[in-house]
Amino acid sequence: MAELPEIETLRRELDKELAQKKIKTVEVAVLKAIPRYKTKKVFTDALEGRKIVGLERKGPFLVGKLEGGDALMIDLGAGGQLVRAKSAKQAASKGTLITVTFTQGGQLRIVDSAGDAEMWVMPYAEISAAPELAALGIDPLDAAISWEQFGRLLYQRADKLKVLLTDRSFLVGIGPAYCDEILFAAGLRHERDSNQLTGQEVRRLYRAVIEIMQEAVKFRGSNHAAKASSGDPFDEDGGEHFKVWERDGESCRRCRRVLKKSKTGSRTIYFCEACQV
Ligand SMILES: [Zn+2]
Repeated sequence: MAELPEIETLRRELDKELAQKKIKTVEVAVLKAIPRYKTKKVFTDALEGRKIVGLERKGPFLVGKLEGGDALMIDLGAGGQLVRAKSAKQAASKGTLITVTFTQGGQLRIVDSAGDAEMWVMPYAEISAAPELAALGIDPLDAAISWEQFGRLLYQRADKLKVLLTDRSFLVGIGPAYCDEILFAAGLRHERDSNQLTGQEVRRLYRAVIEIMQEAVKFRGSNHAAKASSGDPFDEDGGEHFKVWERDGESCRRCRRVLKKSKTGSRTIYFCEACQV
């Protein structure tokens, strides 16, 4: 699951690497990866021969800025990965949807066995107005809103915290793992109603959202840069910094009581009964 810190870390890493690279060829293995196009050729023609100026992030999307004013939009979906290959000889992983080969050598591959990931090209100037972006909520890594505004939105939405925090139209890029970490940091239970929080609780939640997401980027950026390219926070020891996620049975770092796990619907929630109210 690609959550925002992983996407941002990936962006920082790839930005240096991709800048000034020229696209030689683009291979699309399945049309499903480019649902906005009727033929592969229209998509590949929009990319081949063009230079990437840099890699930006708009919400959960990676945006390859192209010379000439267009943008290569990359949506990794829930489980997509961007994989770098030193050469075309490196065997493609199962689920490789699109392969971009650069004139300087090297490839960038979008891999997703579930097949949700997609790419498209659009004018860079029109990104902010694109419906995919207009529908997005607050970007916790931009944090351009105050806690008062955040509080107003919480009251308006009147939903369970766990539902709201992982809703793309409210907050961008928070999946189940960071949601549990944020709620633990804020000392709040997942089933609390967002419109029933006290002013102090709203402030705690706001601070937790910003801090947990920023810390996660720092962590991935410093200790796990090499692994971040997989876009998966749970690969190898990537989950080490989690305080509650998948730590049921261990003792709470704050109060030493045993951490619990509960199920609601298809989701498992990790929390501390004592520290979260
Ligand atoms: Zn505790």
